[in-house]
Amino acid sequence: MKRKYGFVAAMLAVVSACAFLFVRLYGSGSAAGGHEGLRVVTSFYPVYIAAANVASGCTGIEIVNLSEPQTGCLHDFVLTPEDMQLLSDADLFLVNGGGMETFLEDVASQYPSLTVEETAGGLLEGENAHVWMGMAQYRAQVEVISKLLTEAAEEYADEIKENTARYDKKLADLEKQQEALRDSVAGRKIISFHEAYEYLADDYGLDIVCSLDLDEERQVGAGEVAEVLKAVREEGADVILAEELYGRGMAETIQKEADVTVCFLDTLVRGDYDLNSYINGMQENIKRLKAAFKEN
Ligand SMILES: [Zn+2]
Repeated sequence: MKRKYGFVAAMLAVVSACAFLFVRLYGSGSAAGGHEGLRVVTSFYPVYIAAANVASGCTGIEIVNLSEPQTGCLHDFVLTPEDMQLLSDADLFLVNGGGMETFLEDVASQYPSLTVEETAGGLLEGENAHVWMGMAQYRAQVEVISKLLTEAAEEYADEIKENTARYDKKLADLEKQQEALRDSVAGRKIISFHEAYEYLADDYGLDIVCSLDLDEERQVGAGEVAEVLKAVREEGADVILAEELYGRGMAETIQKEADVTVCFLDTLVRGDYDLNSYINGMQENIKRLKAAFKEN
């Protein structure tokens, strides 16, 4: 009997020693632990691309994106266990804000000490959170991200300043191209199939006479079809701005009934992680808009 208790006692000692070691090794892995430098998590693609440009070459700043680059808008996004894992080890969480990330309350309750910063705050038109589609707004958003990263990693202040200036120069060039196109298209009546195009329409002085928000897979009602056709026939709208993924079906339905040009535009919520992908996407949008308005 005695030997048996001795064995149990020895086993207990081994187990508690292991537990102690385990806690020493992994127990300190709370926020900001387990990695060197600054780990910044971004909520989705537009914020990621902006932050990656601003922190380009800063080896002590790691930018990781929460959602997959192909997720798109986050209106109905649910955090995965991998996302939660990523956030548990983050120093800073950069989000768009304005209602884009509907899961922020969960993040705040799970990680009360994580710093969450909204980068589009104050840039919204009404309740429309797709600010990155407006060039002036996006340039301001990049500026906000630059300021936040400088505050979080002051040792990189010079690099961040240089990177931001370089990126902003490219954006300023795009804005110039947009302004040139605006001169010939301003005042044109259009139909928009996506909320994000409201910012774009503003930049080009386009007049949205009918607006549907096809931001997710859904059935389009007969009433909506009638509404669009009415805008074509009675208001004289002859260009539809649509997104390839959710707008194509509706666009084809309308084209069977009316003589309109459909211009498929990138909402810049998904793509690869190339630093110039936003610039390239917007450049392509300018090209497509030019072609669409030329046709009519
Ligand atoms: Zn959206």
